[in-house]
Amino acid sequence: MAKILVTGGAGYIGSHTTHALLAQGHDVQVLDDLSKGYAHNVPEGRLNVVNLHDAAGLARLFAAHQFDAVVHFAAFIAVGESVGEPEKYFRNNVGGSLSLLSAMRKANVRRLVFSSTAAVYGTPESTPIPETAPLRPVNPYGESKLMTETTLRWMDQCSGLRSVILRYFNACGAESQWGIGEEHEPETHLIPLVFRAIRTGKPLTIFGQDYPTSDGTCIRDYVHVSDLAAAHLAALDSLMAGGPSRIFNAGAGHGYSVLQVMQAAERVTGKPVPHTFGPRREGDPAELVADSSKLKQTMAWQPRYATLESMVESAWAFDAKRHGTL
Ligand code: UDP
Repeated sequence: MAKILVTGGAGYIGSHTTHALLAQGHDVQVLDDLSKGYAHNVPEGRLNVVNLHDAAGLARLFAAHQFDAVVHFAAFIAVGESVGEPEKYFRNNVGGSLSLLSAMRKANVRRLVFSSTAAVYGTPESTPIPETAPLRPVNPYGESKLMTETTLRWMDQCSGLRSVILRYFNACGAESQWGIGEEHEPETHLIPLVFRAIRTGKPLTIFGQDYPTSDGTCIRDYVHVSDLAAAHLAALDSLMAGGPSRIFNAGAGHGYSVLQVMQAAERVTGKPVPHTFGPRREGDPAELVADSSKLKQTMAWQPRYATLESMVESAWAFDAKRHGTL
């Protein structure tokens, strides 16, 4: 059993990881400023409403608990918004991480699992993408994550901070029995928007139908949020066992097009998805699929959700619960 601080634990992937850590018997505290996350995602007595820039608040939290490790999710994640306001992303995602790292150093906490993204690769030359692919973000969001990765690399070298960086592909699905799932405001992610189209009848806009893919729509690697949570647990275990700093892709390794996701939702729900085709969304590469063999081999990680249907089904169960449509 370890004592863990989860930043951003009121958010989507953070809350799933928090629940999974608790289920494994770890002692967890969550830090979240609730600017994006929801208090109802955090089990009772675990939430500390603190902003990462609040050095005094961080110091109090680290003084009150002897953390063995930190799992760091807290960040802004909207690619489009990051293009409109880059400084907001660098201040929050990079500045917030630096503030956390200072607090960790002062409290002598030297293990960190960091939530990174496939966006560090930008538009890849080929897929599946290994961790060794060139790092060329095409938006401030991806760059802000890469800058934090770079900081971690230097902190490993200069101050003995050991970190595991997980570069997620497209997180989806939910653990609706825990009452948690994907809730973003505004929502920009495909699967919740597919359900919204089913519920409201307002058509989903498919961004582009002229990509060089089999059906002309973008291909992504959808990975279940609980499988991502499991990757964090494995990463923590390795750090607790004295393992070195490492970087892993975390994706299921299968690519599905926007149309295939829509069709899976139609099969799962038994309802048609009203949709129209619109122009491409700026910054969307045609295909992003992970080569996650390093994570599988090093951490014995194996995604439990093997099919797109099973992932969409779990997302639908949460959506229906949330909107009271079942
Ligand atoms: N997408 C779409 N319509 C939407 C939202 C998303 O066609 O209303 C597409 C988007 O272009 C991408 C895929 O769905 O190819 C997944 O997008 P999402 O925003 O969920 O994740 P991202 O790949 O940006 O991390």
